[in-house]
Amino acid sequence: MDNKKVKDIKDIFSMSIEEMPGTVFECSCGRPHGVDIEKMIVRSGSVMEDVIETLMPYRDGKIFVLSDHNTNKALGKSVVERLIAEGFHLNPFTFEPGAHDLLPDESSIGRLLIEMDQDDSYILVVGSGVLNDIARIISFRTNKPYAIIGTAPSMDGYASVTSALVINGKKTSIPGKYPSAIFADLSVMRDAPMIMIQAGFGDVLGKITALADWQLSNALTGEYYCEAIAGLVQKAVDKCVESTGGLFNKDEHAIGCLIEALLLTGICIGLAGETRPASGMEHILAHYWDVKAIEAGREHPLHGNSVGVGTVITAMLYELVAELVPAGISYPSVAYVAGLLEKIGAPTSPAQLGISRELFLDSIKNAVHSRKKYTLLQLCYDNGRMDECAEILTRRLYD
Ligand SMILES: [Zn+2]
Ligand SMILES: [Zn+2]
Repeated sequence: MDNKKVKDIKDIFSMSIEEMPGTVFECSCGRPHGVDIEKMIVRSGSVMEDVIETLMPYRDGKIFVLSDHNTNKALGKSVVERLIAEGFHLNPFTFEPGAHDLLPDESSIGRLLIEMDQDDSYILVVGSGVLNDIARIISFRTNKPYAIIGTAPSMDGYASVTSALVINGKKTSIPGKYPSAIFADLSVMRDAPMIMIQAGFGDVLGKITALADWQLSNALTGEYYCEAIAGLVQKAVDKCVESTGGLFNKDEHAIGCLIEALLLTGICIGLAGETRPASGMEHILAHYWDVKAIEAGREHPLHGNSVGVGTVITAMLYELVAELVPAGISYPSVAYVAGLLEKIGAPTSPAQLGISRELFLDSIKNAVHSRKKYTLLQLCYDNGRMDECAEILTRRLYD
């Protein structure tokens, strides 16, 4: 803790994302807030100078460079070439495409442990969601640090301390740690497939209902709430929403706002010490749909695309039971959320995600039992409105 900067939480609103690592913030909410990442670099142009500087202390060992077929083509190959030219010893590994999408499961985790060498000193990931989840657990278990060079602004899990894994066919969240460094080159990220950009945007929009649920729980259950953290998330969402039009054209400024919002909300989870600032009913629904797909052996949509649709559904439910919601809770309108998603061509309905009517109805009725977190679902359930609302929403979305 000695060489950490201590600041007032208000200062965080004027800091750039690159200035936050290693800072501890004092806050009137009573909880200490820290950013335990060593380095975050977001820029348009090569991040390799910073990557090399970060890897210098690990030069004696080998750098385990992890990618998949797509991320290797997009960036991994050039990263490896550059590091070799700089005299690093590498152990590069690329997941080749299989019959199914790469899953963060026993098979891929086991494969990495086999591919890693005893003298690998550092894990460098070139990729996004799944590779990041696998690398985090490997890094945590083997006690070797890892950094990620992001290739897509597709989810808020870069700056996260948990890995979303599939173990024994079940979705499981395993505690881990932050990457020691996160690098994002916007000129690479803008080339990510549009569906990944839509997913990232969906994950950002999900924060609007997550914040509403957090306020709701604070008002009705007295749960911990930090105004500064909520304000920070809101600010990041607003900035991202302002540049929605640019996302459609993969404009670099808009991509930059998106990745910053995704990184910042990840950081806010770390500041709060829980997922509250970033996840509410919209995430519970997305999670429920994923779990059912995995159980049935089906592939599921990208996390953020499900969250985007979950946000529309949550907004619908807020409107439906508005009389139960205490005054002062600000939730978005359905038109607002759906309009933003439509603007970039992202899915807005569960049917567009391939979710059956049956599964949708089941999810609204039962997702409340899947998590302990207090959300709008719990409010409806406690007031005996759940089944009725599930029927109304299903008819509205599927008839
Ligand atoms: Zn606070
Ligand atoms: Zn999310």
